[in-house]
Amino acid sequence: MEFKSLVELCERLEKTTKRNLMIEAVADFLRGLDENEIEPATSMILGRAFPKYDPRTLDVSWATLSNVIRRLSGIDWRDFYSAFRSTGDVGAATKIVFERRSPGRQSTLIERPLTILEVRRMFEHIAESKGQGSRDRKERLIETLLSRASPLEAKYLVKIIIGEMRTGFQEGLMEAAVSRAFSIPLKDVQLASMLTGDVGEVAYLCKKYGRDGILNLGFRVFRPIKPMLAQMATDLREVFEEHGGRTALEYKLDGARIQIHVSNGDVKIYSRRLTDVTRSLPEVVSLIRGEVRAREAILEGEVIAVGEDGKPMPFQHLMRRFKRIHSVDEAVEEIPVELYLFDLLYVDGESLIKTPYVERRRRLGEVAGSIPLTKQMVASSMEEAESFLRAAVSEGHEGLMAKRLDSPYTPGIRGKHWFKIKEVLEPLDLVIVAAEYGYGRRHNWLSDYYLAARDGEKFTVIGKTFKGLTDDEIAEMTERLKKIAIREEGSMVIVQPKIVVEVAYNEIQMSPKYESGMALRFARITRIRDDKSPEEADTIETVRKIYESQFRRKARVNIDL
Ligand code: AMP
Repeated sequence: MEFKSLVELCERLEKTTKRNLMIEAVADFLRGLDENEIEPATSMILGRAFPKYDPRTLDVSWATLSNVIRRLSGIDWRDFYSAFRSTGDVGAATKIVFERRSPGRQSTLIERPLTILEVRRMFEHIAESKGQGSRDRKERLIETLLSRASPLEAKYLVKIIIGEMRTGFQEGLMEAAVSRAFSIPLKDVQLASMLTGDVGEVAYLCKKYGRDGILNLGFRVFRPIKPMLAQMATDLREVFEEHGGRTALEYKLDGARIQIHVSNGDVKIYSRRLTDVTRSLPEVVSLIRGEVRAREAILEGEVIAVGEDGKPMPFQHLMRRFKRIHSVDEAVEEIPVELYLFDLLYVDGESLIKTPYVERRRRLGEVAGSIPLTKQMVASSMEEAESFLRAAVSEGHEGLMAKRLDSPYTPGIRGKHWFKIKEVLEPLDLVIVAAEYGYGRRHNWLSDYYLAARDGEKFTVIGKTFKGLTDDEIAEMTERLKKIAIREEGSMVIVQPKIVVEVAYNEIQMSPKYESGMALRFARITRIRDDKSPEEADTIETVRKIYESQFRRKARVNIDL
């Protein structure tokens, strides 16, 4: 297939924002390709020279590319900049200056049109030019390529070379196009795309073998898989409800998640974002090499930095291990890390993602050698779970993960199979200062309460909740609030600050919603504290202190690799 057809397709994609039209156009195009053109074409439409898992890169600098454009178009460079300013796109600007080039420079392109496969081969040559003199070689190769391109083709070649396609046609839409082109259910295509790490390869398999080609796909070592994610649980009760009364609890370590691929003694380590971080963790590599009892395996775990006292160190310390690639040896000595494994996705040709969690964990134990697994227990009561959570926190960890015993491993999905449970913060005693009528069944009741902390002489709102009280309690509370009402503002009733309630919450957030600048997240009333007077309620200083302490903890979680 000629490269020209691919380019014309991209033009059409650029001109529409209708997803359906885009999908249909690409599906049609894919249907018309030969088997060996499918992956290169798919990659190029997405603006990639190579498939995602492929470690090769073109490595072409703007200086190199602009030299070639300048030479081939023979234009005044100011014209290029003005074309760029009017389009905002390097590819489009290239097209404009190529259209203006002198007729003598256009002779070759008519003779032999570029094909998709030729373009791929040229990309391969460019990527393979390494070492001394590679810059010149790359420049010559790009010149050969662009000299055979029409202005429109040059536009897209440049876009692919600099990695900015900007047609709005993304990977998710490509999955839909593959599904439509080969009449294969979208969810199968999506799963296969996750497993192989590249939609182009999936398209190829679909074309060649149909649905069977992707149904039993396994993992491939050295192709990282999107990690399974966890949802935040409001409390342990929710976890037990969702997991059917029994759940596996694991310490949630505050470190960096890694995915480890092993094949015949070769080890590669990927970060949570699937970046290769092997070079930063040499001691983990040797540990894996020495301990893992499998020829091939894909494992997951968390590395944490540990201090001399054996307690986990702040997250920033660990991050220095990933940033200082130039003095790895020093970093290894300064910031020792420990690895704890928690999952096994693949071992010796066998994919375990559909295998239930308990069985994966058992197999992980067999494969891990002497590498520790995350501390774990299967809990079926709140008491057990609470004391495990307390133990985790007192040992300096973040909290717990709760994993459903029979759950499969769902790459890239944040579902209810895995919950994260953060340290439960001490409840606050707060005063109700206003209330709102509820909705639906509760429309006659004041069921939504504004909660305030003591702030000198006054009370400052830090949250609102309609959770925690039973219907009877709400009815009774409505009566009590009406008696101490000061005035009504719309659906809100302002009351005298008299009633104290105990409030649990998950987090204190910064929020412009209230004057205090802080807001409780997932607030719920746990008790009505008629034994306490408003003067005994918690103060805004206390709230601020808790906010700051958790902020320090959170600051480290938000940095990622
Ligand atoms: P979050 O990043 O807050 O969504 O929490 C999930 C993260 O917790 C994972 O990505 C891991 O990095 C980390 N983690 C710590 N301990 C475990 C564990 N035992 N199982 C799974 N993930 C864990």
